[in-house]
Amino acid sequence: MTVAQGVWTIGRILKWTEQFFREKGIESPRLDAEVLLAHLLHKERIFLYVHFDEPLEQTELAHFHEMVKQRVARVPVAYILGEKEFMGLTFRVTPATLVPRPDTEVLVQAAIERLQALGRPCMFADIGTGSGAICLSVLHFTEGTQAATVDISPEARAVAEENAAALGLAERVQFYTGDLLAPLTGQQFTAILSNPPYIPEAEEATLQAEVRLSEPHTALAGGADGLDFYRRLCAEGPAMLEPGGFMAFEVGAGQAAAVAEMAEANPLIKRTETIKDLAGIERVVVAYRG
Ligand code: SAM
Ligand code: GLN
Repeated sequence: MTVAQGVWTIGRILKWTEQFFREKGIESPRLDAEVLLAHLLHKERIFLYVHFDEPLEQTELAHFHEMVKQRVARVPVAYILGEKEFMGLTFRVTPATLVPRPDTEVLVQAAIERLQALGRPCMFADIGTGSGAICLSVLHFTEGTQAATVDISPEARAVAEENAAALGLAERVQFYTGDLLAPLTGQQFTAILSNPPYIPEAEEATLQAEVRLSEPHTALAGGADGLDFYRRLCAEGPAMLEPGGFMAFEVGAGQAAAVAEMAEANPLIKRTETIKDLAGIERVVVAYRG
């Protein structure tokens, strides 16, 4: 950042970075600048506003420069910070894990409500756990629950295990590396939760640069029509549910009806239900075993 001479204060660097991000087409230039700088200074964003005139130290400037370079290379803010807030909890994330999305909180909320309504301790599975966001939030907000998670990526599993330990949940969850339900063969669950990869092949090229360039392909690619993982989960999942149990999946926009139909095609499934996200998009399909 070799611009005009003068002191780089918080206010000045924010203004400069906002402008630079805007020129580079970053979607929320001001917010990203503030979030990165606040993180670097180990402060809340509000701190920046009441310290506009405070100068930054040379080492802080150098570090911030690195963050700005990564951001304009379209690295998501969460990967630069190494963390993302989800359900009010902080999750460590790396490029091996999808960045947990606010939409996924709809699935978590649905699972929490349904598990709590049972009023007894139960065991659920989270398939394709990534950072562990779904499984660990459900465990955090429910009592007496236990979980098994599967991911095909050993690197993701390592991050999920770290998150479980950091959230004090390690004793309530078992981690498996493998292909969908295969590592859980022979086990029975009250619920099977999943936010599987669901992007159709043809849509991958149209994803936001941040997602396309930085997030793991194996976390996103759902086959030709995006529904490959639901096909397998709907075929194999119901037999692994206890009677009265349920499966709940996050789905992409426009996929809910097809996924509900797949679930209903399994004779063990009694009924399905669809839940919308805040934008009014059908985001979660719940399928109940009779
Ligand atoms: N559950 C996390 C969340 O909601 O933020 C991550 C969801 S991400 C869309 C899908 C996850 O499924 C990725 O972590 C990916 O590694 C994993 N995955 C992909 N193929 C898989 C497979 N065949 N078996 C198990 N996990 C798989
Ligand atoms: N919601 C993610 C996106 O739109 C996709 C996650 C998934 O494939 N499950 O980028």
